[in-house]
Amino acid sequence: MYANVLIQYGVKSLDHTFTYRIPNNLVGVVSVGVKVHVPFGKQNINGFVVSINDSKPESEVKEIIDVVTKELKLNDEMLELGKYIKEITLCSLISAYQTMLPTSMKVSNSKEDYNKYEVTISICASDDEVDNFINANLKKAKKQVELLELIRENPQIKKDINGSSLKKLLEIGLVKEIKTPIYRINYESVIDDAYILNDEQEYAFTEIAKLLSKPETILLHGITGSGKTEVYMHLIGEVINLGKRAIMLVPEISLTTQIVERFYHRFGSDVAIFHSSLSDGEKYDEYKKIMNGEVHVVVGTRSAIFTPIKDLGIIIIDEEHSQNYKQDNNPRYHALDIAKWRSKYNSCPLVLGSATPSFETMARAKKGVYKYISLNRRVGTSVLPSISIVDMTKEAKKRNMILSEELKISLMKCLENHEQALILINRRGYSNIMTCLSCGYTYKCPYCDISLTYHKSKNHLRCHYCGYTVIKDEICPNCHEKSLDNYGLGTEKVEEFVRSLYPSYNIVRMDTDTTSKKGAHARIIKEFENHKYDIIIGTQMIAKGLDFPNVTLVGVINADESLNIPDFRSGENTFNLLTQVAGRAGRSNIPGKVIIQTYNPDNKTLNFVKNNDYLGNYTYEMNVRHMLSYPPYCYLILLRVSSKDYNLLGNEANKIVSYLRKNLSSESVVLGPTTASPFKINNVFRFQIIIKYKFDNNISSSLAFIDETYALNKDIFVDIDVNPIRI
Ligand code: ADP
Ligand code: ZN
Repeated sequence: MYANVLIQYGVKSLDHTFTYRIPNNLVGVVSVGVKVHVPFGKQNINGFVVSINDSKPESEVKEIIDVVTKELKLNDEMLELGKYIKEITLCSLISAYQTMLPTSMKVSNSKEDYNKYEVTISICASDDEVDNFINANLKKAKKQVELLELIRENPQIKKDINGSSLKKLLEIGLVKEIKTPIYRINYESVIDDAYILNDEQEYAFTEIAKLLSKPETILLHGITGSGKTEVYMHLIGEVINLGKRAIMLVPEISLTTQIVERFYHRFGSDVAIFHSSLSDGEKYDEYKKIMNGEVHVVVGTRSAIFTPIKDLGIIIIDEEHSQNYKQDNNPRYHALDIAKWRSKYNSCPLVLGSATPSFETMARAKKGVYKYISLNRRVGTSVLPSISIVDMTKEAKKRNMILSEELKISLMKCLENHEQALILINRRGYSNIMTCLSCGYTYKCPYCDISLTYHKSKNHLRCHYCGYTVIKDEICPNCHEKSLDNYGLGTEKVEEFVRSLYPSYNIVRMDTDTTSKKGAHARIIKEFENHKYDIIIGTQMIAKGLDFPNVTLVGVINADESLNIPDFRSGENTFNLLTQVAGRAGRSNIPGKVIIQTYNPDNKTLNFVKNNDYLGNYTYEMNVRHMLSYPPYCYLILLRVSSKDYNLLGNEANKIVSYLRKNLSSESVVLGPTTASPFKINNVFRFQIIIKYKFDNNISSSLAFIDETYALNKDIFVDIDVNPIRI
């Protein structure tokens, strides 16, 4: 028997399969999808078996050495899914599998045992032998005898005893250690009853339940607080009743904490969780639970879409509009595409839930490609919050640079009522520009084309692209005057200011800087939930999906931040972000209030947010996209060409453009090359080329040609992003 083994080869991970003989002792053990250890050149490496056959190859072949991690392997669905990822993202098959797998299973990983064990001690000799030992040693070795008696009385005693006595008993062979694998995450909880759905929820549930064995996509468009999560849980309950299983995706790690808690309370230990801040060991355990069919529900972030759950009966993507569902390095897959593929493969429905569906999704729902169901009321007596827009140009004249008069007053009232407030400022750090008032010197990254962000708590300036860091000087490094000043607002500065205004209240900041430690997300959310803090200040991390019933006030500092991003989606994204964050206010019986601070109070998008007008914003933006021909009226492909050599880069980028113009259909438009933003990262210059097309039979072959042409080029890198979320 012979196996074709896919290995990872070279920096760009090109695909190579090699044939190996399966030695007799491994026949039956080596199957398609397992990871094997094979000789390769002068070393031994790992690879995946992608096929097995009988026919003897023409040339001499080597033998497989062994199978690595027997219990985990790529199943048929995953093997097929890898091919699909390769096709849509133009990556190699091996990188597709690498992306799909947790560290413990990645091909390059050779650590074999990720299990965590509980070690117990038991007697392994006959009663007579034990008695004899005790009688003979009563005086000589009192400690050993006592220990032996303890073990005899407590079979399978936990190994928290140690020391020389135990060592001796093990040596003599009177007792033995037994290692049993245990799971690192074990959640035992009381299972609560499900809520009785209200009319709207019931309708949504029944309509979707009718489709449980069909590969349909359903858009569940429900305003914030309309009880979507409750509908998801009812659907999953139904799926489990039918003997099937479910995957539910959430966009942020910070969201998993609350949702998983709700799921544990509904489904107990039938839930596995999967997201990037789990340790490799925890991921291994959760993966094993999923693979062995020990759980019916998987909850997690983007990568959870790859978990090999069997008998998939439903996939749910919550906050489907979130950009976090697209991976922003290679392979640049979108979890929605993977979910659709799996929905077809398993013939099960895909539910996309959102208060602000992405325009692509909404357009498909309007065309009838997706089934459309809406929830228009908040659950119970709760109502949508009132939203006001504050003009900061007027406030600036009153020297209110961070918090407007209205936000200050509302905050005070909220705090006095023992309610909680949430403040969104979508930029981390203290300020994004540090400049000298005397000479105009500005701190910039020496390697990237951007200014450094000041982090006051660490007293340093950091590049948010490459991580370059310098300590802040007391005097200007250029003119040596003591006139350095900072501009722009970040979470740290807002935190400092809010603390100074409300010194007797508890305030917490949540951004990538305060959540880098493992478990920090969960801790902050839990503590805020328990009202340890009165105010939470954070980036978009706190904007989505969280359910804090005691939050009655939401403030948005600098709404312009997101509006000013030069991207055709900035209107859509700003509307989504602000509507989501507004939705955190007034989720129980006290009505909520939202204050949006901006320098552009007449901006259309902001006013759509104020009026809760999703459809207004959709119609307006879709008109613009139609006129300018942007998605969903066409498809986009972004080619990012980069190099350390500026001249070479210009030449090659132009060559690529000419090649595309020559080979693509005359209806497709090739824009560029133009400089990317930022133009330089880590001393590497970047250009971008954009292709706009509707139907073009030559796209795949042309892109594949470009990809292959530059695959082995060490001076020019071409990165192809199909359906980019940012341009
Ligand atoms: P969404 O996901 O649409 O923002 P949630 O599912 O988080 O809304 O629901 C908002 C709140 O209402 C939650 O605290 C939830 O427990 C509660 N809730 C949802 N459905 C019901 C129901 N049918 N009866 C009572 N409470 C409900
Ligand atoms: Zn940099």
